[in-house]
Amino acid sequence: MYAYVLTIAAALLLVHWGSRAVTAVSERIPLPREHCIVIDAGHGGIDGGATSCTGKLESSYNLEISLRLRDLLHLMGYQTKMIRTTDESIYTKGETIAQKKVSDLKERVRLVNETDSGVLVSIHQNQYPDSRYSGAQVFYAATPGSDLLAKNLQKNLASCLIPPTKRKEKKISGVYLMEHIKCTGILLECGFLSNPGEEARLSEPSYQKQLCCVIAASLNEFLG
Ligand SMILES: [Zn+2]
Repeated sequence: MYAYVLTIAAALLLVHWGSRAVTAVSERIPLPREHCIVIDAGHGGIDGGATSCTGKLESSYNLEISLRLRDLLHLMGYQTKMIRTTDESIYTKGETIAQKKVSDLKERVRLVNETDSGVLVSIHQNQYPDSRYSGAQVFYAATPGSDLLAKNLQKNLASCLIPPTKRKEKKISGVYLMEHIKCTGILLECGFLSNPGEEARLSEPSYQKQLCCVIAASLNEFLG
């Protein structure tokens, strides 16, 4: 509990300081941590993912939130590994778009599985034809620990986000990356881009920081 309070305090500092100051501080006071958090900003480049109700691509939201999460985890002393840091696909081969997408997915799996003591956090946004649906939801891999991390994160999202989500964590199915990783891993659908209110919140830096605080605190609780 004490560690959780400290994490929230550190996270709130991030909200006030901004990411540049946090990076400078974390470079000066490195703290030893056993795990490396692999942050996968879903989609990118030729694969934009879903499109929001205002026309912005899912890949942009995923990257913005992933970069904020990286900065916060650095402040807490965690090693991180970013699958991507710009708007790019990471395929290594393929002629057609379909072949490049397959190569991109395999490359993501390789990058996760080659990481020692890795824990995967894959960031995505949801979409549905009916704009009424909203709420962050955590999906988990079949690997050891993934269900516990997902349960903890979903509980904290329900109690800390404004407005709170009523969704429940769920075992993932049909997502190549999550079905081929060997480490603990979760995929967070941060919200529905098809819901105008939620899309507006997901665009706000303050809400993105709030989300990252909950993710980082939940990881710290789980790993601690
Ligand atoms: Zn996605």
